[in-house]
Amino acid sequence: MSDNRLGSGQQDLFLPEGTNRLLGRNAQRYNIAVAMAVANAIKTTLGPKGMDKMLVSDLGDIVITNDGATILSEMNVEHPVAKIMVDIAKTQDKEVGDGTTSVVILTGELLKKAQELLDKGIHPTTVIKGYKLAAEKSTEILKEKAQKVDIDNDSILQKIAMVSMGSKNIGDEETKTQLCKIVIKAIKQVMSKDASGKVVIDHDFIKIEKKPGKSVADTDLINGVLIDKEIAHPGMPKSCRDAKIALLDVALEIEKTEVDAKIEITSPEQMQTFLQQEEHMLKDMVEKIKKVKADVIITQKGADDVALHYLSKAGIIAIRRVKKSDMEKLTRATSGKIITSLDDLNESDLGYAGLVEERKIGGEQMVFIEKCKNPKSVTIFVRGGTNQIIDEGERSLTDAIGAVSSAIESGYYNYGGGAIEVDLANGLRSFATDVGGREQLAVQMFADALEIIPTVLAENAGIDSINILMQLRNKHKTKDGISYGVDIFKEGITDMATKGILEPMKVKQQAILSAAEAAEIILRIDDMIASRGKAPAGGMGGGMPPGMGGE
Ligand code: ADP
Ligand code: MG
Repeated sequence: MSDNRLGSGQQDLFLPEGTNRLLGRNAQRYNIAVAMAVANAIKTTLGPKGMDKMLVSDLGDIVITNDGATILSEMNVEHPVAKIMVDIAKTQDKEVGDGTTSVVILTGELLKKAQELLDKGIHPTTVIKGYKLAAEKSTEILKEKAQKVDIDNDSILQKIAMVSMGSKNIGDEETKTQLCKIVIKAIKQVMSKDASGKVVIDHDFIKIEKKPGKSVADTDLINGVLIDKEIAHPGMPKSCRDAKIALLDVALEIEKTEVDAKIEITSPEQMQTFLQQEEHMLKDMVEKIKKVKADVIITQKGADDVALHYLSKAGIIAIRRVKKSDMEKLTRATSGKIITSLDDLNESDLGYAGLVEERKIGGEQMVFIEKCKNPKSVTIFVRGGTNQIIDEGERSLTDAIGAVSSAIESGYYNYGGGAIEVDLANGLRSFATDVGGREQLAVQMFADALEIIPTVLAENAGIDSINILMQLRNKHKTKDGISYGVDIFKEGITDMATKGILEPMKVKQQAILSAAEAAEIILRIDDMIASRGKAPAGGMGGGMPPGMGGE
C-alpha cells in the first residue's frame, strides 16, 4: 500500500485496529462509514460550481478532472466497500455515460439514512425492502414527470449535451457549444434503427482520437476514420482524392514459415532464383491490387519492403498494421469489405473516401480517411494545449455522447438542477403512506436521500441549502413548479426549462436503480472476517470477504 490511497496504511479501513471480525450492527456501521467517506470525497465536484480534483500518482502522473468515475478509479481505493462504490460509478459511466458523481453521492446518502433507521432498531431487510419499493416507484415518477425528446429538435439535444459538459473545465461557453454540436452531428451520423425500429447508437463507432496542440476549440469532426499511422513508403503519394480503398486482412509479405522451411541453397544462382521467386510472388500480389484499381490499401497485417516498393511504383498508398478495431470502423465509414485473400478481391469490395491524406500533427504523422459518403463510423479529433486538457476534453465528449444518446434512445428527459429529485422526493413521501408498515419509514428516508442532489448543488454554489430546499419542495407542489431547480448563480430557485438544464431520464433512472442496489449489497453484509489474517504492516493483506464484488 502506498501513501496516496484512501485511508492509506490504515488497515482499519477494512477492519478496525486490533479486530479481525465485525458482526451485525458493527459491520454495517463500519461499511456505511466507508461508503459515506467515498461519497464525501467527491461531493464538492457536483454541478457546474463544483471544483476539480487533482490526482497525482506515485510516478508523478497528473490527472485533473471533475469526472466522478475518473476520480474514483484513480483513487486507488482498497476497502471492498469503497470498491463497490467505484464499481457503481464505472457502471453508470458504461451504461449511460453521465451522472457518475450523482450515483455515488446518492448511494452514500441512502446508506447514511439507512444508518438512522438501523439505529432506531429497524431491521436491515425492512430497509432493503422499503428502498426497493422506493426505487421502483421512482422509475414510475420519473416517467410521469418526463418530457418527450424529439430527435429532430437539435436545440433540446444541444441543451442536454451542454448540461453534461457544464461542470467540465475545458473552455468557454462557445467552445462547449461547438463540442456539443460535434457530438450531436456524430451521433446522428452513426445511429441506426434495429429490426423493431428502435434507435440504436453504438459508441464504438464514434472514435475519439487526441493529440496535444492547438486548443480545444480546434476539436473537429471527421467524417471517416483517423488512423494513428503513417503511409508505409516515402515514395507513395501523401494524399488522394476520391480514393478507392481496399481493406485487407492479408500480409503483403512472404509468410515466415515459407522462408524458414528448409531450403538448401548451394550456389549463388540458386539464391538468385529464390529471391526472384519471392519477388515474383510479391509482385503478383500487387498486380491483383492494381487490377481492381484500388488507390489505397489498408491492411491489418504487415507489408514488406519489396511489396511496398511495387505499390509505390504503381502510385498506390499503403497503410499497414492497422488495428482490428480500426478496420471495423473503416468498413462502416467507407462501405468497403475486409478481404482475407487477394484472390477474392473485387472492385465491388472497395470502400470510398473523398480524401485520404497524411498530415503531420504535433510532430507525428497521421492518416485521415475522410469525406466519406454517409459514413456509419466517424472520428472526433480532440485538440488542446496540454495532455490534461485533452484528456478532460475526451471525458467531456464521452459524457455528452452518453447523455445525448441516452436521451435519444430512451426518448425522454427530466429537469435538472435538483428539480426532478424534488419531484421524486415529494412523490415518494405520498407513496410512503400507501406502503404503510415499517417499510414506510424506509421509503421516506429514500425520499430524503434524493434531496441530497439539490442540497449539494446549492452547497457547492455557496448557497444556504436548507432554505433552497424548502422553497423547492413548496414550488413543486404548485401547478407549474415541476421545472424549478437550484439557481446556482443567484441565491434562490429558478426555472430549469428556461435555463435549459435538461437531463436524460435514462441517466437519472440508472443512477437511482444502481444506488439502491449498491446500498442493498452493502446493507446485507453483516459479517466481516479478515480471511487471511492481517499483514503486519501492509493493511488488509487481500482478505476480502466472499461475495463482495470489487476487482
Ligand atoms: P455527474 O457526474 O453526476 O453528472 P455533474 O458534476 O455533471 O455530476 O453535475 C450534474 C448535476 O448538476 C445534475 O444534477 C445537473 O442537473 C446539475 N446542473 C448542471 N448544470 C446546472 C446549472 N446550470 N444549474 C443548476 N444545476 C445544474
Ligand atoms: Mg455530468
